[in-house]
Amino acid sequence: MSPLPEPPALDVAVIGAGLSGLACAVKLHEAGCRVEVFEAADGIGGRVRTDRVEGFLLDRGFQVYLDAYPEAGALLDLEALDLRPFTPGALIWKAGKLRSLRDVFRNPSALFSSALAPVGNLRDKCLVAKLRFSLLRKPLDHIWAAPETSTLDYLRAFGFSEQFIDDFFRSFYGGIFLEDQLMTSSRLFEFTFKMFSAGSATLPQNGMQAIPEQLAARLPEAAIHLNSPVTSVTGDHLTLAERSEAEGGNDDRIENEAGTRHRATAIVLATDASTTARLLGYDRQPKWNHTSCLYFAADETPLAEPIIALRGDRDGLIHNLCVPSQVAPGYAPEGQSLISISVINDHATDATLTETVERELINWFGEAAKTWTHLRTEHLPQALPVAPPGHAIGNRREKGLWICGDHTRSGSIEGAIQSGVETAAEILGEIDGGDKIASDT
Ligand SMILES: Cc1cc2nc3c(=O)[nH]c(=O)nc-3n(C[C@H](O)[C@H](O)[C@H](O)COP(=O)(O)OP(=O)(O)OC[C@H]3O[C@@H](n4cnc5c(N)ncnc54)[C@H](O)[C@@H]3O)c2cc1C
Repeated sequence: MSPLPEPPALDVAVIGAGLSGLACAVKLHEAGCRVEVFEAADGIGGRVRTDRVEGFLLDRGFQVYLDAYPEAGALLDLEALDLRPFTPGALIWKAGKLRSLRDVFRNPSALFSSALAPVGNLRDKCLVAKLRFSLLRKPLDHIWAAPETSTLDYLRAFGFSEQFIDDFFRSFYGGIFLEDQLMTSSRLFEFTFKMFSAGSATLPQNGMQAIPEQLAARLPEAAIHLNSPVTSVTGDHLTLAERSEAEGGNDDRIENEAGTRHRATAIVLATDASTTARLLGYDRQPKWNHTSCLYFAADETPLAEPIIALRGDRDGLIHNLCVPSQVAPGYAPEGQSLISISVINDHATDATLTETVERELINWFGEAAKTWTHLRTEHLPQALPVAPPGHAIGNRREKGLWICGDHTRSGSIEGAIQSGVETAAEILGEIDGGDKIASDT
């Protein structure tokens, strides 16, 4: 392909239309910058995408929006997302039964059943209350500056029994961190515990992808270029991948842009940790926590209420289970239920994974589970960046590029949005300061 003439320089080019890239682009656009977003995939949202399959909404991996997230809440129109809350607390599968462990502060009537549930002892339950009060009072900037250790050591130092750590924290936080060794930083633990205590875990009525879609709707349509993987980038230029006729032949925009270079006064790398390392030319391979999510269709929900069920004992594959359509009815066609099962630490093949999970479901819910139809399994090998103590690096500039994404803050919707918003503010600060937006190298 002969080189095309270079278009005039954009103010800012953002690489990646995940939540961090979209948040950054929205802030810059609304401040009057000319921004364009280049996204490798065929849709926006990055790790927050939803597919419609036979009338069901299947998020690409089970995730929830915590409505106490401060930065995300400030940027998003939460009312328009029509967020539906889970019942606080959890059901814990232990010794052949689902036991109830409620958030007794928001549901005092559950005090009795929770106190008696054979999950931890009374002292553990009092310590949960103590932790809750201390973290609700602790400002977020203190949490992010606190001395760091692993979540496991933090919980032991707080005085929780090994049994409660195993039965509850490994299950609940294993599902959040996607690792049940609890090696994730204690800062992330404090942050998520505070968010769960201050608000609710929710699902948007139209699926998780409604979150990035709401942000994308605040940008001019032509500002987002899908199917546009960036192959190389410098402080002021990016190059898009060459595409074959078969890949991009039906899309004029793609055909015109493939292989071209774009100039921009500032370039934001809002890609995942691995792509960011590759585009920066580093050999290092960031580590990831992974998960698989299996979806089943059922005629009716197996749970009495919209709550998360966790596996409390350690033998079995199901890590957690919920019924998204019981939380937000938009997730399933009328008269049907969508069941979501998350598995971590699994390396089974697709067939054995489904068979094993189906066997466990019959154990949990009896013969009724035999009638459920398997809809899809999502494997997410790169779900969350591994985040041991000392992992946080912050948004930064490297090789003349602005770097943001959840890996610079916390592996969460809040972390991604916060990093994008902060990066936009830093870029605008340079513009407002009258400085040229320029490379630091
Ligand atoms: C299974 C799962 C469960 C989760 N659970 C929760 C939860 O319950 N609550 C919560 O708050 N968070 C949760 N998260 C985390 C949250 O979804 C992420 O932290 C957040 O979406 C990351 O956004 P990002 O913009 O930083 O990165 P990404 O979403 O990874 O966005 C990066 C974008 O860059 C694009 N890209 C990559 N390479 C290129 C290239 N060469 N050129 C152009 N574009 C490129 C990608 O296609 C992608 O769109 C979960 C994540 C997963 C996967």
